[in-house]
Amino acid sequence: DHPPVTALLVWAGERLFGGELGVRFFFTVLQPLYLWILWRLIRPADAGRRDAALFVVVSAATLMLQLYGFIAVPDGPLMFTTALFLLTFKWFSENRRRAWLWMGIAMALMAYSKYHGALVVLFALAANPRQLLRPALYSSGAVALLLLVPHLVWQYEHDWASFAYHLSGRNSVFRPGYVVEFLANVLVVFNPFFVPLYVQAWRKVKPQTPVGRALKLLPVAFIVFFMLSSLRGYVQPQWVIVSCFGLVYVLFAYARRHPRTRRYVMRAGGVTVGLIVLARLVMIFNPLGIRSCYDEGKRCAESLFMSYYREHGIPVKIVRIFNTYGPKMDINDGRVVSNFIVQALRGDNITIYGDGGQSRSFQYIDDLIEGMVRMMDDTPDDFTGPVNIGNPNEFTIAELAREVISLTGSKSKIVHLPLPADDPQQRQPDISLARNMLGGWEPRIQLRDGLLKTIAYFEEVLSRGGIRR
Ligand code: UDP
Repeated sequence: DHPPVTALLVWAGERLFGGELGVRFFFTVLQPLYLWILWRLIRPADAGRRDAALFVVVSAATLMLQLYGFIAVPDGPLMFTTALFLLTFKWFSENRRRAWLWMGIAMALMAYSKYHGALVVLFALAANPRQLLRPALYSSGAVALLLLVPHLVWQYEHDWASFAYHLSGRNSVFRPGYVVEFLANVLVVFNPFFVPLYVQAWRKVKPQTPVGRALKLLPVAFIVFFMLSSLRGYVQPQWVIVSCFGLVYVLFAYARRHPRTRRYVMRAGGVTVGLIVLARLVMIFNPLGIRSCYDEGKRCAESLFMSYYREHGIPVKIVRIFNTYGPKMDINDGRVVSNFIVQALRGDNITIYGDGGQSRSFQYIDDLIEGMVRMMDDTPDDFTGPVNIGNPNEFTIAELAREVISLTGSKSKIVHLPLPADDPQQRQPDISLARNMLGGWEPRIQLRDGLLKTIAYFEEVLSRGGIRR
């Protein structure tokens, strides 16, 4: 439902690097660029190193910027193009030559990033109504419209789908919860330690330039606008992300002149940055989470084996096994395939943890064994792996439950239980290395056939009162 810049950046990144890095690459690169533009806009003439440090800490301690600095959503490009717009708006207000042209281009780029760009233009002009009297402004608008023609044609050919969606498709009934949640989010998403300071700084800072006035109005205008929007539907917290520019500006300008505030900002900002670094490390490694004994155990095993390989030349082959199932599993194994089959055969409730939207790629045991044997027998000694061995066909847990019910003809009902902490949302192996190295290995048994064999096995076990042969 969004304009195309996000897709373009993801596409370009994937061309360059592929994978997750490719998806996020340009979004990550844009952030320092737009912060640098902001710094150019607000840097005082006599700025020194201390001021630069203050700017870095104020922006780094802005939680929303930390989060949307690496996520591939339209807010990243919107921030970048908004910064471009503010820069060209500054030139425009200084009557620089051709500034109107650049500003027109920047406005079009903003609209191509996210429609919220229109609000930025509106609020920048509301803060500087005198600019409305300049004919060059309208030339600028014409340039923007001209550049938007391809997009408008696309919208026309598709019944204005995005506009319809944004203007009415998202409307729902009034729920006080939406407003309360929005306001609560606003208190947290920038930096909760700074909230009273933002207010104080906003009241005291008196910008002398048009771009300063625009920056000052942005946070208030955005927050009020989306608070009103929350009366008619859910508002996502990142929709006010453009406010970050104004909040960083007022807090920087205020703290730079007030030593006590500066000290507090540097300390509380430093603590925030420290906490963010910690949170990011935990998100990457989560060394203490509930699944960590499992995750870290595997990592540790691979590392130990590689050390033995290097130190003592012991032949080592590492495979990474993805969700495997099949006959001979324990009825109390607890994993999803055996649980569902045993529950279905007994007529017990089928227990889906969470909403069942999480996915897994299930591999039948014979395919795994075939892959492991080939890895041990048919690969050169110096090929240690790791090699992913799994079946890349992905299913949601809800689909698996339906398939098991249909194949067993069971009358079991599906019930939903709480999702265990840290349960991964998606699992799908990339098996290209296995395909290349394991002599044409390929998973051969697809879910339906594998399930039938496993069901037959459990039927037999249950007929013997649950005792394995
Ligand atoms: N699961 C479920 N019901 C069960 C057992 C598991 O919904 O009775 C879910 C579980 O939350 C996870 C998925 O099925 O999202 C796969 O779980 P499993 O333990 O089989 O494998 P892993 O989580 O290690 O991939």
